[in-house]
Amino acid sequence: MRNFLILIGICISIRLSAQDTLRYKIGDSTVCIITELHKGARRGVVFLNLHEDESTSVQACRTFLSNNNGTLIRLHQHGERLIVFTRKGKLYRFDPNRIFTPKGRKATLKYFDNYDRVAAKKLKGFANAIIKKLRKARLVVALHNNTEGAPLSILNYVDKKGYRVNVNSSINIDDFFLTTRKKIYKYLKSKKMNVAWELFHKTNDDGSLSIYSNKNQLPYVNIEALHGHETEQLQMLEVLKGVMKKYR
Ligand SMILES: [Zn+2]
Repeated sequence: MRNFLILIGICISIRLSAQDTLRYKIGDSTVCIITELHKGARRGVVFLNLHEDESTSVQACRTFLSNNNGTLIRLHQHGERLIVFTRKGKLYRFDPNRIFTPKGRKATLKYFDNYDRVAAKKLKGFANAIIKKLRKARLVVALHNNTEGAPLSILNYVDKKGYRVNVNSSINIDDFFLTTRKKIYKYLKSKKMNVAWELFHKTNDDGSLSIYSNKNQLPYVNIEALHGHETEQLQMLEVLKGVMKKYR
């Protein structure tokens, strides 16, 4: 009987998700890097949410993970897209998906008019902390949400240098995949998805995680969906299952 109860206890603890929070100090501020382990997750597939305000993607992912193994890593600070920090009384802002290369770090700090060399170093440290969390990942699934139409949709990649694109006109243009892998592109194309394949040697270095992943041969796919398109984003995750099983 006792062994039976212990067994039940183990099963329950495996099914429940666990959470680990790294409180990362940047300047005089803090950003949480939260790791959620779902159903005794294997670390092969890591889902990553960098923009905290894109909560539809996190909800869709959690629903997906209630039936599937996986690790979800997300940033938590003020619930906004941008990360802010102070240093020596000065306020800095940056886009956390522009910090994975030196060029990107400089550009995002300059864009918000707060570039200096020390701040760029702080961003590098933060990027490395995120990358360290991905060290066991065999596939990174980035989770993003966007707004209606411009500035970002699958149409951005049509005829753009460095991309191959498949557009399905019956799917909303804001719901699309972007990957660094030809195999993943071909698979999603065969499933008639909106999908763009980013060819590293021909694309501009904006410091985003896709650029980093391409450079470091880390398989990467981004699931972009319109804010509120939770059902659609969940369906996209289901379609991606055919890819995920190869990266367990
Ligand atoms: Zn985003």
